[in-house]
Amino acid sequence: MEQTNKEHIRCLIIGSGPAGFTAAIYAGRANLSPVVYEGMEPGGQLTTTTDIENFPGYPGGTGGSEMMEDLRNQAKRFNTDVRWGQITKADLSSAPYQFEVDGEKEIEADAVIIATGAKAKYLGLADEAKYSGAGVSGCATCDGFFYRKKTVAVVGGGDTACEDALYLSKLCTKVYMIVRKNYLRASKIMQERVLSTENIEVLFEHETVGLSGENKLQGSRLIKRRGQADAQEVDIAIDGFFLAIGHTPNTSLFKEFLETDAEGYLKHIPDTSLTSLPGVFVAGDVADPHYRQAITAAGSGCKAAIDAERYLNEKGL
Ligand code: NDP
Repeated sequence: MEQTNKEHIRCLIIGSGPAGFTAAIYAGRANLSPVVYEGMEPGGQLTTTTDIENFPGYPGGTGGSEMMEDLRNQAKRFNTDVRWGQITKADLSSAPYQFEVDGEKEIEADAVIIATGAKAKYLGLADEAKYSGAGVSGCATCDGFFYRKKTVAVVGGGDTACEDALYLSKLCTKVYMIVRKNYLRASKIMQERVLSTENIEVLFEHETVGLSGENKLQGSRLIKRRGQADAQEVDIAIDGFFLAIGHTPNTSLFKEFLETDAEGYLKHIPDTSLTSLPGVFVAGDVADPHYRQAITAAGSGCKAAIDAERYLNEKGL
């Protein structure tokens, strides 16, 4: 990247989920003049969630998009410069760190908080690509509306799968949950809700091997396994196939410069937001394979801003 006409930023925050905006609130109140680039999905994954019932301070719950709008406004109140745009290139080989925005604008930053989150995983079947946008989706709350009064399947047995199945059960005639184990990994309260919902049928010990349909999705072939020797093919008729099998952290820009764990999450010094590079901090799901909650992301955003403030003060930047 060339060194011409570059905007210099004191504290750059990449990502606009609860981690990014909490970092912005703290950095703004510390007079670090933070700039947030919102990325491809402004507001992050919470904008694809319906109700948030477990964020402290909202006894009646709140909506994902509403919470993100509140956090964005709170960050702006403390002079955060919130910008549309995506960081398309990063060079962390030496400070100040260099970035490209939307493939053209060049910026550099003294401190960087990486809060780029994670995205939905797919099974890796060729059929998923074939029916993408024609029945296959990684986001029930985004696309569920298109399957009103239809039959759909949700793959996965975690909290996300349960949440998606419950959401879809209110729109669809029937919801299958395709679960590869003989139990749900989700929290007890979610399990109970799923199992007591009449139009949700949980298919335990089932795995998806293919999808079918002319032009649009019409069915799925599953294998029911009770052990290596006992496998049985099962066909179900469905109009929608929703993936809820976990997430992949959005780290592609930074992998060259920062260490990741086996699943690709950015490594950091335990109990801090510090990475192996001075002035580069991590917050939220991009560095958290364990908890992945809005509240833990927000907490880590707070830590990252405090760490960034200390770093900038120590360096006199
Ligand atoms: P999880 O990792 O908890 O669950 C993933 C599910 O997908 C598991 O049932 C897993 O099966 C299954 N799975 C993974 N890969 C495959 C595959 N290739 N084929 C079939 N099934 C597969 O992910 P979640 O996204 O559900 O949750 C992540 C974290 O976020 C958790 O800590 C969860 O508690 C939290 N969360 C909390 C919410 C809330 O509190 N409201 C809402 C949503 C998420 P197996 O069990 O066999 O590994």
